[in-house]
Amino acid sequence: MLGYGWHSFAQKPTLDYPKDYFLFPINPQQRNYLAGGMGDLRSNHFHAGIDIKTQGREGLPVYASADGYIAEIRVQTGGYGNVIFIKHPNGYTTVYGHLRTFAEPFAAYVREERFKNKTFEISLTPSPEQFKITKGQIIGYSGNTGGSGGPHLHFEIRDIRNNVLNPLYFGFKEIVDDLPPIFQKIILKPLDLEARIAGEFTSKSFTPTRKSDGTYTIGEGTISASGQLGIALLAVDKMNETANSNGLSCVELLVDGKEVYFYHLERYSEEYSHDINVHIDYPLYKQTGERIQKLYIADGNDFLPVYHASASKGKISIQDDNAHEITIKIWDAYSNLSTLKFMVQKPTQAPTASVEPNKSPTQIKHTIEDNTLIISAKNLKTATSFCNLYVGSSILSVPIAYSKNNQAYYLWDLRKGIPQRISVDSIFAETMIQKVVVPQNPTTIDIGKLQATFDSQTLYDTLYVQTAAQGFQFQLGNNLIPLRTPAQLSYTVDSSVAIPDKTAVYTQERKFLGGKWQGNKISFKTDVLGKYQLLTDTIPPRAVLVSKSKDYFAFKIADNLSGIKRFKVMLNDEYILCDYDYKRALLWSVKRTDNQQFIGELLLELTDNQGNALVYTTKIDSSSTKPKVVKTPKKIVKSKRKK
Ligand SMILES: [Zn+2]
Repeated sequence: MLGYGWHSFAQKPTLDYPKDYFLFPINPQQRNYLAGGMGDLRSNHFHAGIDIKTQGREGLPVYASADGYIAEIRVQTGGYGNVIFIKHPNGYTTVYGHLRTFAEPFAAYVREERFKNKTFEISLTPSPEQFKITKGQIIGYSGNTGGSGGPHLHFEIRDIRNNVLNPLYFGFKEIVDDLPPIFQKIILKPLDLEARIAGEFTSKSFTPTRKSDGTYTIGEGTISASGQLGIALLAVDKMNETANSNGLSCVELLVDGKEVYFYHLERYSEEYSHDINVHIDYPLYKQTGERIQKLYIADGNDFLPVYHASASKGKISIQDDNAHEITIKIWDAYSNLSTLKFMVQKPTQAPTASVEPNKSPTQIKHTIEDNTLIISAKNLKTATSFCNLYVGSSILSVPIAYSKNNQAYYLWDLRKGIPQRISVDSIFAETMIQKVVVPQNPTTIDIGKLQATFDSQTLYDTLYVQTAAQGFQFQLGNNLIPLRTPAQLSYTVDSSVAIPDKTAVYTQERKFLGGKWQGNKISFKTDVLGKYQLLTDTIPPRAVLVSKSKDYFAFKIADNLSGIKRFKVMLNDEYILCDYDYKRALLWSVKRTDNQQFIGELLLELTDNQGNALVYTTKIDSSSTKPKVVKTPKKIVKSKRKK
């Protein structure tokens, strides 16, 4: 944990920020607008800076925020795209991402280094003397390069330890926000076997309503629930005169007026960014696309140093008959506050734990949620039939935990033992739990044709391993389980693979994972669990020349399956610099010097991840003065945009 100290009430921000030190990098001294805020919940990361709008277009001058020097300059296909890092004398670093172009002389420096290294992507760290920068100097022009979904400038401020800070705490007058955040959804989640929400052991979602005084509540104001509960939240912040929805700065949870959880992403190291997957309800995100943040510190969340919490880590325990007041406070970076209050009370009557007996055959189903095995059964022979769990050589009988619509529910804490089989009214089912892997414990498991190695950091929480395998398809766990670091898997196929060096592992969504063959066994790394498939790619990438002249040429490029790995463009056997935008599937020429002309034999070599290569040649003659634009055929589709 970082040394924030404990505050019984949310204090924000807690650090000292030099005000008026940094210049706003776009249209300084004018009103500006944001398309994204620091800490916004994004795919696999917390947003590390602010996204400054650029009037929907590219090419706006980007100004250095303060004196300093260029510490790093990069060209990336995804991520930041073209990006500059400036280190300042006060120890801070500012970052300017998704630039369309660098200003001179940095652009020429990058071009020459790329030419020398014959590469599109590059990361350069000039010496402090090489590119000294003065405050307000134009360092580049705004763009949409890398993993950007529209023109904007991504701007970060980092401290001397490279921790990310919220730029909005530095007193920029260019941004105005006096609108409070908006509550959108509250979820209550059962966290122990005794927990019931509206009589059931299942998460329930509630829609907050805004009252005339501006505060929020839920429905009738009282929720019937008991046991250990967790609260999760969906909320957005709005800023003046812009439709964009940003994230929150702070969240506080109070029970009966006492703070039990406080979240503030004020300063964090990027190494924790991936841990957003344990900060949000990850299964819900995979199922609905909504990033709902937990207001408790879940098991396995030992990484993010952004919380204050009670001993119960924000988990709420409703044991007595009193009504308990839940208060949630949410703030944006400008200290605008919204408050939600509701009551939680244990129901006066215990939920029913019996059903009406039925003569039809009993049916049983089971699922695993966190550490709980949930068994549901219908058409029970008796009103209170037990569920038998076969754990090792013992048989344990579990009574009905609760019933709903004549369906009986049984709950079992898997930390107390792993049942191989379950039965109700002599109807049996296999749980299919083949192994248990606990986090922080390097483990290799062997299950038939599948082998998996987890290092000490791979898992956030205990994994109850269920697998399946048939032919060229296999499964380990499911995609609702987040991994902190990749797992190493291998799979042995029964029959030999026709073209092993063109066959690799892909996810169910056909994302290329690769793999190395050793006989009939393929080994690969994966950062997602779930279903995998072996697919064969023997088809080289495609390229269509869409523009051709002695001053400029461009290709649309695409691949059918494994994806484009690299490209190389030569003119008369000399390396030619090209820029590439995966979002537009466009590859185009870059002049090394103003008077460079592209006359002669042009050769494009495109290689996919499976090693299939396309070699395309064409001739450009001196007569072509105007770019000849060729219409793109329908066959070349745009590659998918990264999130
Ligand atoms: Zn951004």
